[in-house]
Amino acid sequence: MTTHHPRPTLVLVYQRTSLPWVFESAERAGIDLVLVPRPDETVSQDGLPPAVVDVLRLDVEADPAGALDALRRRYEEHPFQGVVTLYDPAVPFVAEAAERLGLPGIGRDVALGAQDKRVMRERLAAADLNVPGFVRLDHPGDWEKAARLAFPVVVKPAHGFSSLGVTKAESPGDLKDVVDEVWRTCSGKLGRVDGLVVEEYLDGPEFAVESLAHGGDVRILTIGYKGDPQGPHFEEGVYRAPASLPADVEEDIRREVTAAHRALGITDGPTHTELRLRGGVTPYLLEMGARIGGSGVSQYIASGVTGIDFAAQALRIAAGAAAEPLASGPPPEPVGAAANYIVPCGGSGRISAIHGLAELRDDPRVDHVVQMLFPGDVVRPYPDFTGYPAFVLSRHADIAEAEEFHRFLERSVRIEFADDETDDSQGSDRAGGTDGTDATDGAVRTARTDGTDHGEPQ
Ligand code: ADP
Repeated sequence: MTTHHPRPTLVLVYQRTSLPWVFESAERAGIDLVLVPRPDETVSQDGLPPAVVDVLRLDVEADPAGALDALRRRYEEHPFQGVVTLYDPAVPFVAEAAERLGLPGIGRDVALGAQDKRVMRERLAAADLNVPGFVRLDHPGDWEKAARLAFPVVVKPAHGFSSLGVTKAESPGDLKDVVDEVWRTCSGKLGRVDGLVVEEYLDGPEFAVESLAHGGDVRILTIGYKGDPQGPHFEEGVYRAPASLPADVEEDIRREVTAAHRALGITDGPTHTELRLRGGVTPYLLEMGARIGGSGVSQYIASGVTGIDFAAQALRIAAGAAAEPLASGPPPEPVGAAANYIVPCGGSGRISAIHGLAELRDDPRVDHVVQMLFPGDVVRPYPDFTGYPAFVLSRHADIAEAEEFHRFLERSVRIEFADDETDDSQGSDRAGGTDGTDATDGAVRTARTDGTDHGEPQ
């Protein structure tokens, strides 16, 4: 930090302080944060991370116009250099706010296009990228339009996140019921459904890609393995990076993801991309979020694998303070492996005990145990999204050790329910979310809000 320049200030929208990584990066980058807490969150001044210099209360979801006005007033009184969020539903708001204030950002249209799965698919297809056959449905009654696709298909809300409602339909005979169910679930949970996407099921393992864009250059930092979920509902499970991939497949992923930034117009800032390798070889995007993924889990993973402070760079870009051009080319040589394990609910009912978690806080491989559900909490059966019980974030010498550690966690961490409703199908339905990183958004929505950081490691 130089002394003759004031420190840049960013407004950070809807980040929970119990997920610390982005706050730590801001501190390292010499960036001050004005935190906009979630409306349901109580924050006490003395419990705030050091990078937070002020708290600003806005309700960007219920009153976006009021929130934009309040941001403008704040900007006029105390100028800031940028606005950011890691919370997927707030990405368009942040892009619009930055655009209106003349601050760095991707702009509202690009943010909305990336977030709307219909527009995203259309923009990728227009750029000749890999897109499964898909149909947009404006009403549940239109389901027959999707019967011509190659089955199985996946039905999902146009504006979903955390895998909410995302459901596989095996055959045209199942389609009507699945479409009705997804529409119903999403109307209840998201408050609004303005359409669904039905698209062909992409068979093959799933990967997450963490990238940084700056001035139109794209740098891929890590490619991580996200499991091979088969449905019918898609829950978040594991995230292990760097994935071991044949060089040509890695190169195809890099090319596809770089081109997708161009197709979607994402020229600046961090992205979190999820894709599947169709037939085990060809990368097809599932989504690209114009934000750091997993409420900051992506920072943990990307920095653990590369040694690069991904979030610090992302925040500098958001503040218009990134000087260094991004190197393109293959991902940087890994310095280690990093992983996130999402503890499965394994059932539903009132939690009586969580076994095997407390011990992990002393495990040298484990940096963080972020716990979000506790004994006494009730896990509702799918499709109600209760949240994820816990994340276990760990570092390892290589990916094989990370896999071995996750096998150990599968055996040792278990949730016990008082009413013993445990059954395997509920277990696989879990909390109803998928995208492990986006799942964090769901998880933190339900994190304790009484001001104590139950989930904080050590
Ligand atoms: P969300 O934004 O709600 O997370 P996604 O489109 O990312 O929704 O879907 C969530 C998960 O569902 C994905 O991570 C993936 O596992 C699964 N999924 C979604 N679409 C497909 C598809 N076409 N083929 C296979 N799996 C899919």
